[in-house]
Amino acid sequence: MVIKLVRLLLPFSFLPFTVNAAVVLQYHHVGNNTPTSTSTSIELFTNHLEYLVKENYEVVSLPVIISRIQNNKPLNENTVAITFDDGYESVYRNAFPLLKAHEMPFTIFIDTASIEEKRKNHISWKQIREMKLSGATIANHTHSHSHLIRHLESLEAWKERVSNEITKAQEIIKKRLNQDVRILAYPYGEFDSNTLKLVSSLGYIAFGQHSGALDKSSDLRYLPRFPVSNRFGQFPQIITKLQSVAFKHLNFEPMYGLLTSDGQNPPTLSIKGDRERLQAVNCYGPAGVLTKFKPSDGVISFKASKSVATRRFRYNCTAKAEDVNKFMWISIPWINPAIEE
Ligand SMILES: [Zn+2]
Repeated sequence: MVIKLVRLLLPFSFLPFTVNAAVVLQYHHVGNNTPTSTSTSIELFTNHLEYLVKENYEVVSLPVIISRIQNNKPLNENTVAITFDDGYESVYRNAFPLLKAHEMPFTIFIDTASIEEKRKNHISWKQIREMKLSGATIANHTHSHSHLIRHLESLEAWKERVSNEITKAQEIIKKRLNQDVRILAYPYGEFDSNTLKLVSSLGYIAFGQHSGALDKSSDLRYLPRFPVSNRFGQFPQIITKLQSVAFKHLNFEPMYGLLTSDGQNPPTLSIKGDRERLQAVNCYGPAGVLTKFKPSDGVISFKASKSVATRRFRYNCTAKAEDVNKFMWISIPWINPAIEE
């Protein structure tokens, strides 16, 4: 009661408004001379962190976000986590000093073979330990960073291969760091329904590379993250991403998809809900705006105008949120396993 009264007396902007959503940012390299498609420049990364500070974002670790969701505890508005995939040396050299200066926690998903074999441009265990002491969580990105979905192998062989990939990485992290955080990031963001079953049977929470905010309605077997390399992390677009919330009141079918026959490309996304809400949804694919089929009986569908020639692509849908001044955002990841990389 007292708290409620205090809240009423405070100006609106000071309220820790609870939207119960969080945004997870995904980086690979932070550097100016690292591979273009997977890099965030030092200047852009610096600007990201300064924006988070200026706008009072609460930067928390992934284990904190996950435990708040699992225990049904509120996530404040402006909750963000920072993650890096693959354990590149540029993260230690360029990102870590800035994160340390801002006292921001972060997570590095490592594929342990790269670190064990001391591969070029990767961090060392010594550097990892130093970052861990300053607030880094080290999490599982499998041992050899292979594609996890099953293709041309028996179910049994696949199960053994993928279990080994995950368990081996976890054992190495445990042995080297005395840490056993069961959080996984799928290599290339690739998963299918078998992967989800296996990962949850092994006791892991897992992240993909499809964008969107997460909240207590999110499936903990494939949580979203916003890739924020130079291409996707520029201002002002990143502000919309940081301010996004999960979709409410609408059902997306499917939530992720595997294209297993020619007839499915381009795939169709169906959304169910009431007519007014459906009309407010806009979806985009790899070649721009998706074709929207007229809503009928509470269903609307979207489809790319022609078949997609890449192994992985996304359909992104957004709509204005009703109760807060934010955008709802969801990304549906599709994989065409017949296309090899
Ligand atoms: Zn990776």
